[in-house]
Amino acid sequence: MTEIGATLARELGPDRVAEDAATLAAHRTDYWILAHLRARQGRLAGGPACVVRPRSTAEVATTVRAAQRHGVAVVPYGGGSGVVGGATPPPGALVVDLTAMDRLLELNETALYARVQAGMMGGTYEATVQARGYTTGNYPQSIDRSTVGGWIATRAAGQFSTKYGNIEDLCLGLEAVLPSGDCVRLQPIPRASVGPTLRELFLGSEGTLGVVTEVVLRLHPLPAERVVSSFAFSTFGAALDVVRRVLREGWRPAVLRAYDAVESARQFSAWTPADHSLLLIVSEGPSTLVAAETAACARVAATVGGTACGPEPATHWLEVRNTVPSWDFFLDREMLADTIEVAAMWDRIETLYERVIAALSGAPGVLVASGHSSHGYAQGTNIYFTFVMKPDPFARAEEAYLEAWGRALQATLDAGGTISHHHGIGRLRAGWLERELASAYPLLRDVKRALDPSGIMNPGALIPTG
Ligand SMILES: Cc1cc2nc3c(=O)[nH]c(=O)nc-3n(C[C@H](O)[C@H](O)[C@H](O)COP(=O)(O)OP(=O)(O)OC[C@H]3O[C@@H](n4cnc5c(N)ncnc54)[C@H](O)[C@@H]3O)c2cc1C
Repeated sequence: MTEIGATLARELGPDRVAEDAATLAAHRTDYWILAHLRARQGRLAGGPACVVRPRSTAEVATTVRAAQRHGVAVVPYGGGSGVVGGATPPPGALVVDLTAMDRLLELNETALYARVQAGMMGGTYEATVQARGYTTGNYPQSIDRSTVGGWIATRAAGQFSTKYGNIEDLCLGLEAVLPSGDCVRLQPIPRASVGPTLRELFLGSEGTLGVVTEVVLRLHPLPAERVVSSFAFSTFGAALDVVRRVLREGWRPAVLRAYDAVESARQFSAWTPADHSLLLIVSEGPSTLVAAETAACARVAATVGGTACGPEPATHWLEVRNTVPSWDFFLDREMLADTIEVAAMWDRIETLYERVIAALSGAPGVLVASGHSSHGYAQGTNIYFTFVMKPDPFARAEEAYLEAWGRALQATLDAGGTISHHHGIGRLRAGWLERELASAYPLLRDVKRALDPSGIMNPGALIPTG
């Protein structure tokens, strides 16, 4: 057993610590396809030395203090569904697997919030509060594979975010163990004017500023009604324009998803005319609001030249929306597939879409590149790009993959967009963060140095080392 493993076995109990090959292998990567490619090609370095499964905040604090004494890197690990390598631990790291901290601690029906341990799986959390008549309204596609703490750490966005908000809108408070081993609690409050909002430090911190141990999330009573509709447009720009206009008028349907023609044909060919872009709309809430919102969306869609395609495409999407692709399907065929979610203001979004599609399509080995908008705001939207490639030779697939990513991110920055809307930075985008944050980057680095002077928290994720 490693020294850190022996220390933790003594301090937390031997049943909390694992160093067997199967446990280490299960925590070697998250869902980042490049890590899976490297593992296949025998190039995935090292892996963690030890996995600890604390049951309480006190045990997390004990773990972090021990890691400080031993000078060992700490990688918080939730569901391992991250797609940018944030939970792909560096060699010799101590993985803190949060999934034994999986209890709902409080559900406050008067003040509409739930307090939950950070390692609870998202799907279990949502089912538990729904059984009591509530929802948080955060439905990432990976809801059954991700933890509530992982949502905080990656600044996640759910599929219904247009109505309910992203995780930063839903998080009212949290508890975290700092790199020093000290614990901070940020209590829920409807609003306060007591300096900068400190919980923001942890939203998107990707395990680099501490371990999130408890989370307080907003609750909403379950909606009384849900109505779905869909419309086809002759251009992607027209579908995006409906999203912009609907939000500008002040409506907030839970879902507004505009697909380009490639994705409309791939996923909704049964209902979409050829070469058209499909827009899916889900409206939910009190029935009078839903009726008015659905009518308003139909009016705006007609103004922009949309053809009604009925409820079926949106119903179909609701049924299949949490399907998780298997990387093995692509890797077995010497192919890679990945998604790149970026965002920009409305006056730049079409240029961004065109430039990123051109950049990806021109990258060596890329077979197809497509996109859709899934998280709209009055000021702009995200575009979620998908690309599939067949690198030649496959032995050099990593080079081709990074080339495609580099082209897409550069095109995004050139168009005035942000390099990530909701997957985060991880190890994949770490080298790009300084280009995006520019004058604000030293501030982030200083915060990291101040909280984690010895640099033990998830080194290499978010902020590059060295
Ligand atoms: C098929 C699929 C669909 C997806 N769909 C969505 C989507 O719709 N929306 C979306 O936002 N994301 C989506 N993701 C990405 C991913 O699910 C999210 O980033 C999710 O929030 C990660 O949670 P996790 O518990 O799996 O975290 P992990 O993958 O375990 O970790 C992610 C990062 O957070 C850190 N971390 C995890 N837990 C903690 C903690 N308690 N304290 C501190 N740091 C921590 C890790 O160190 C790592 O840096 C998808 C992923 C897949 C594979």
